[in-house]
Amino acid sequence: MSTDMTSDGDKSLYENWKKIYPSHQPGFFRNLRWVVYAIELGIFFLLPLVRWERPEGLPSQAVLFDLPERKFYLFDLTIWPQDIFLLAFLLIAAALGLFFMTALAGRVFCGFMCIQTVWTDLFLLLERLFEGDRKRRLKFDRSPWTLRKLLVKTGKMLAWLLVSLLTGAAFVFYFADAPTMARQFLDGSAPYPAWFTLGFLTLTTFVMAGYAREQVCIYMCPYARFQGVMFDEDTLIVAYHPELGEPRESNRRKRTAMGEGVGVCIDCNTCVTVCPMGIDIRDGQQYECITCAACIDACDEVRRKAGFDARLIRYTSMREMKGEKIHMLRGRVVVYALLLALFLGGIVYYLLWHVPLEMTVIGHRQPLYIVQSDGGIQNNYTLRVLNMTANAQQYRLRVAGMAGAELAVAAVAERDERGDPVLRVEPGSVNAFTLYLKQPAREVTTGRLEVVFHLLARAPEGGVASYKTVFMRP
Ligand code: SF4
Ligand code: SF4
Repeated sequence: MSTDMTSDGDKSLYENWKKIYPSHQPGFFRNLRWVVYAIELGIFFLLPLVRWERPEGLPSQAVLFDLPERKFYLFDLTIWPQDIFLLAFLLIAAALGLFFMTALAGRVFCGFMCIQTVWTDLFLLLERLFEGDRKRRLKFDRSPWTLRKLLVKTGKMLAWLLVSLLTGAAFVFYFADAPTMARQFLDGSAPYPAWFTLGFLTLTTFVMAGYAREQVCIYMCPYARFQGVMFDEDTLIVAYHPELGEPRESNRRKRTAMGEGVGVCIDCNTCVTVCPMGIDIRDGQQYECITCAACIDACDEVRRKAGFDARLIRYTSMREMKGEKIHMLRGRVVVYALLLALFLGGIVYYLLWHVPLEMTVIGHRQPLYIVQSDGGIQNNYTLRVLNMTANAQQYRLRVAGMAGAELAVAAVAERDERGDPVLRVEPGSVNAFTLYLKQPAREVTTGRLEVVFHLLARAPEGGVASYKTVFMRP
């Protein structure tokens, strides 16, 4: 027995896919969505092209995720592997932002900002340019294949392919120098991972925005599945007001003239034909609704043309629909907002105040210590210095905790006015130095001695770091 049949074998458990032909609906929310899309698309496509001045040897791309070097460049910031927890913080903040937005305004993210919505609308725009609006598209798809139909369909697909290719390329540009990678794509010398990423994103963009469209939101998106738990009675939703619209009547004027009590809805179906999810909002709140507000624009236009005042479809909440006052400031909204502020504040605090300098000092084991001919004791160490700033730095090296300490660094002759060794480290580099720390015979006692090495950058942005270790003695 086929697994997609119910026990009585006569009904499929899966709904057959029906192509949706949403019509274009101008209006306030449509314009708002274009503005949001323009910002989102502008940032996505243009950001990798922005150049940024950095010292020689460092990339000149403002935003670059340099995976081989394991460094992320964000304008003046350099994120190092040890800062990777910031990524976790950022993901948590993004999730909290989504929860906050959902608790406040339902699926407004899906309808106005989600990349699936943005790219689907972009593809729909191209589809309209080639095939016309809803009625023409419906007729065109039902018409027999002709040379013209073939050319129009091919033209549309080529346009989709171009947008998909640009999308894939723009994504790759975030991981390599954009002009170099663009040249490599054009002359065919790009590395295999770049080709693979370009191909994968081109294909997924083409399929998801061109064909899968609302199916992605309904069947594939995990967010759509659990967003219901973030809703409450005060969450903003797009809803039809049956108390105003029902009983709906297409011949409303005539029925009203005849004294029949009819609702305001003229049953024109415009709100249904504009819906990208193919639902009828008049059937009540539905899980498929992405709160894009196209039906609000549609009904508002019908309202203006038909000359009635009642806003049949609008942003509202379950509580408001019951005739009660809506509460924007609620417990869960405040909790999400506070947590969001906490995580974002933590990221900002770290980025502003973290020290761009790291050091480690490892004592040599062979030998643990050297007894010198004058009775003094010497320990050798390897010092590693990581300069996380965008400039070359000079650091003074000092040691504390040892009376009469004499400190020298192999191959470093430069000393400051106090006689401390001065170490130079290039931007974004780790340098290793061999240290010789000696305690003169007059100060030597027995046993281990705790010492602390201090690195102090000469430039204020270079930072200060310390490392505690031991000085071994007989
Ligand atoms: S019902 Fe209205 S708000 Fe919901 S997806 Fe359809 S058009 Fe958008
Ligand atoms: S657009 Fe408005 S008037 Fe037309 S069917 Fe929808 S709710 Fe009724």
